[in-house]
Amino acid sequence: MKVVGILGGGQLGLFLSQSLARLGAATAVFDPDLEAPTHRHTAAAFPYPFTDQEKLRQFEDLSDVITYEFEHLPVSVLSTMAEHESLFRPSLKVLAVAQDRLMEKCFLRDKHFPVVDFLAIEKKEDLAAFEQFGLPCLVKTVRGGYDGKGQKRLKSEAERQAFLPELLARLERGETMVAEKLIDLSLEMSCIVARQKGRCVTMPVFENVHKDSILDTTVFPSSLSRELDAGVRKLACDIAAALDVEGLLTVEFFLSGQDIFVNELAPRPHNSGHLSMQAFNLSQFDLLSRILLDIPIADCEPISEQAFAMANILGDCYYRDGDRSTLNMKALEQAPGFVELLLYGKQEPRKARKMGHLVCRGATPAEALHRALALRKALSSPS
Ligand code: ADP
Ligand code: MG
Repeated sequence: MKVVGILGGGQLGLFLSQSLARLGAATAVFDPDLEAPTHRHTAAAFPYPFTDQEKLRQFEDLSDVITYEFEHLPVSVLSTMAEHESLFRPSLKVLAVAQDRLMEKCFLRDKHFPVVDFLAIEKKEDLAAFEQFGLPCLVKTVRGGYDGKGQKRLKSEAERQAFLPELLARLERGETMVAEKLIDLSLEMSCIVARQKGRCVTMPVFENVHKDSILDTTVFPSSLSRELDAGVRKLACDIAAALDVEGLLTVEFFLSGQDIFVNELAPRPHNSGHLSMQAFNLSQFDLLSRILLDIPIADCEPISEQAFAMANILGDCYYRDGDRSTLNMKALEQAPGFVELLLYGKQEPRKARKMGHLVCRGATPAEALHRALALRKALSSPS
């Protein structure tokens, strides 16, 4: 039996292991968090710190192929595993680009993919150029940021000046930052590409709404025209080819007026692709599983004419009932278009923590979205 090593044991790892299990494979899961959802679904849980070289070696020895479900793996892990680079899908080279926002942006710009104007802030001397950089802008950490963490929005000169001491302190701590023009977003979207030995299969474009920089909802089909949808898919495919990805690549895009920009890359399954489990013949996890197990991939097709919407359930959605936090499951009894509720089994519903998600369908994207939002609201309200 083939063993797939997964670095990271969150919900993405969980759904990936379920898909792998259906193809007869086993998993080994490395995540320092004892309560990581995927640990409960693997025969080989490695709940050890990423600095534990011996455990990392055992994990490697057990794995026929290795993938990762988040890109912010500590450099220590990557250097320990560099000797086994050939086991990684996608490769460590792809990971190196995707885990460094500046490297990612430079790569995209050098290859002439459209990116929003940006400026690297790597040392004290870059501050002069930063003071000339157009406002409004966003300053983002180059490493470790996700769900909007490590980002600062600057709208006015006064805000910029007030931020300078913090920026300087960060530079002195050895952090690198990137300033990026804040653009008017007409919409946000993502495209997931599966690439196997040079063959690219793209999912249709998903339309995403973020709240407080965290993905809130995804809708399929998107409101893009056929031409724009095809253009975005081609861009995503070309980026995957330029990086020589073997595995999945999710490309996040911005649409501003008629202009398309690449926002960021994730070389793994993505929260916006969750509805592929209900809406398509093959989910993002199935496509990745096939690539990891060397089974030919196939085109990804919608299973019906209907529209689908996914709404994330954050810890904020839970309410107190006595001494426990809960959701009102009665809401599911009368939920039109309800398809599936998935809960990740995380213990504490902390604010902004992704606890689960739900999927609804409808005759139109607007109807599916309306139903998903109404159901989420009902789940969050005591009856
Ligand atoms: P993260 O790695 O935290 O997902 P992103 O760069 O994707 O970071 O930013 C999170 C969200 O912040 C985006 O989905 C978008 O809503 C908003 N955002 C980021 N960059 C810009 C920008 N240049 N202009 C406008 N909005 C932005
Ligand atoms: Mg993002």
